Amino acid sequence: MNFLKKLFNTKTTIITTLTVTSSNGFHLRPIAKFVTEAKKFDATIILKANGKEVLATQVPKILSLSLEKGDIFELKCKGKEAKEATKQLSKLFNELMQSDKEIENIEQENEEYEAQSIKGITISKGIGIGVPISYYKEKTYKKDALSLKEALKRTAKDLEELYKNNQEKDEAEIFLAQKSLLESEVFQKDFKNIDKEIENLKGGKFQSRIADYRDLKQRIESYMGVNNEFIPPNGDEDSYIVVVDEKEELLPSEVEALTKLNIVGVILQKGSTTSHVAILLRSFNIPSIISSEQITTTGEYFYSILDANSGQLILVPTEEDFKKARKKAQKNKEKEAKSYKKRFKTTKTKDGKSVKVLANITDLNSAKEAKELGADGVGLLRTEFLFTKAKPSIEEQTQTYKSIFELFDEVTVRTLDIGGDKSLPYIEIPKEDNPFLGLRGIRFSLQEQTLFKEQLLAIFKAVGSISSNEKTIKIMFPMISTTQEFTEAKNIAKTVAKANNINLTNIQFGIMLEVPSVIFGLKEFNKLVDFYSIGSNDLTQYLFAIERTHPTLTVDPLSPLLLLALEQIRKGVEKPISICGELAGLEVATQKLLSMNYTTLSVSAKLIPNLKESIRNV
Ligand code: PEP
Ligand code: MG
Repeated sequence: MNFLKKLFNTKTTIITTLTVTSSNGFHLRPIAKFVTEAKKFDATIILKANGKEVLATQVPKILSLSLEKGDIFELKCKGKEAKEATKQLSKLFNELMQSDKEIENIEQENEEYEAQSIKGITISKGIGIGVPISYYKEKTYKKDALSLKEALKRTAKDLEELYKNNQEKDEAEIFLAQKSLLESEVFQKDFKNIDKEIENLKGGKFQSRIADYRDLKQRIESYMGVNNEFIPPNGDEDSYIVVVDEKEELLPSEVEALTKLNIVGVILQKGSTTSHVAILLRSFNIPSIISSEQITTTGEYFYSILDANSGQLILVPTEEDFKKARKKAQKNKEKEAKSYKKRFKTTKTKDGKSVKVLANITDLNSAKEAKELGADGVGLLRTEFLFTKAKPSIEEQTQTYKSIFELFDEVTVRTLDIGGDKSLPYIEIPKEDNPFLGLRGIRFSLQEQTLFKEQLLAIFKAVGSISSNEKTIKIMFPMISTTQEFTEAKNIAKTVAKANNINLTNIQFGIMLEVPSVIFGLKEFNKLVDFYSIGSNDLTQYLFAIERTHPTLTVDPLSPLLLLALEQIRKGVEKPISICGELAGLEVATQKLLSMNYTTLSVSAKLIPNLKESIRNV
């Protein structure tokens, strides 16, 4: 083998151990980015896991390692640029793990219809009323066929363009991933055996990647004169619900075409909510579910209801069901439009209670998005995501904080919260058996103070440089469990301020309330802190001893025990308090939280318009 020869010809091999920390594992999209980077080095780069070694330049080979969350693998670099490759690739890997989007948890509503319904899992919310039809593709042949070589080139160019033109959207990475897959040997050197290769993936861990292989095959073949296209029926009906059965497959490249064909809903009979097709269905707002129950679409034309909000298909609805679905669809549409229109308005409950809806952000871009979506301020700036590539300079930090402060009247900056599931490539935390119980958040900052002090100085400088002093800038320490930790952290802040002649009177200092011990120390904390923000994600994890990223164990967000804890906190605090964990954005929890008098909620930007509108109706 060529790569083995290359490996033995060079001298030093650098071996690093890397850990997969994303709950999604090391999957196609991050692999694609990793491979693109690996190809830039003059070095032989190998990944080794479970006794198997693969070249880092081959997407399918890395996929075959099946690296899941918690898995450890070796990165072996040998050759002229081994050192640089090790450094850059480790850095990139950690960054990819950190920025890998968590699977969006799609909350289903409860809805009862008179007629029988087929249940499924929601991919993309919405309500569609249409004639159910089977997804069926027909093969047609064109005369102007290109050679395989030319077809491969054209396909690569198309994907490159799709990637470039969709940079800011979720789907961009799908095109990059497919492009990297296209560059692998399977496509470039062995295309005639592609069906065999796809067959080998069946039933295994890569079942979900088959669609990408088939999609690429279809793209290439269409340049070679073979078209495989969905032809909708010629009926008079103006809308259709497409059912993709076990034998057919809706491929990523085919999703957009559906939007041009009066398709009001999609039901996949196999697949997952995280597949590339699912991401695209969400991004085109096509109501869709996954259901493996039997669905009959043949025979007479009839209208069905796809209520993806509650994850149901009502195949033969009653008149009442239609009325209900139409009303619901109309209401949803109106609510969306109304919420969006009123997003900048203040938010008051029906009985006149004012509620502040702030945003959780990670950088300047998300700050701008939050502003556009009506955030009343920033309730949580997760600074660990600000500088994921390299250790930032104080000036770089200052500039970013300043730009964010200029956008809002109120910003809460959380100091670096690493450890647990968050890591930074330039910070080394010794391996721990229970990282969630280890050197996390403030514990790290108190032990390794350099970065902490630099960050504090940057925040102070940014505060000093903004034009208005009407703004409320809050500094929040994460993972505080004792008053001593808070005092120690604040003393460091005071020392930094004094050394730099900075006046702290306009800056507030508070804590994330996410470690249960704080609940029992509120009396003492009240004397010290300026504010609290409940980190319900971690608070839940530590209350129930269930890891927040656990693949199967979950805690009911409305668990009476959690609500009791929130009630006790609300009664015990004597300083302003907000909630910035996921719970704050769950509409099923809104009424409960408001009734406990939690009137400041900080949530992800895209939830803001609807959450504000829901609050107005409480
Ligand atoms: C939380 O723990 O709820 C929180 C908001 O912080 P993070 O999710 O960043 O740990
Ligand atoms: Mg937390």
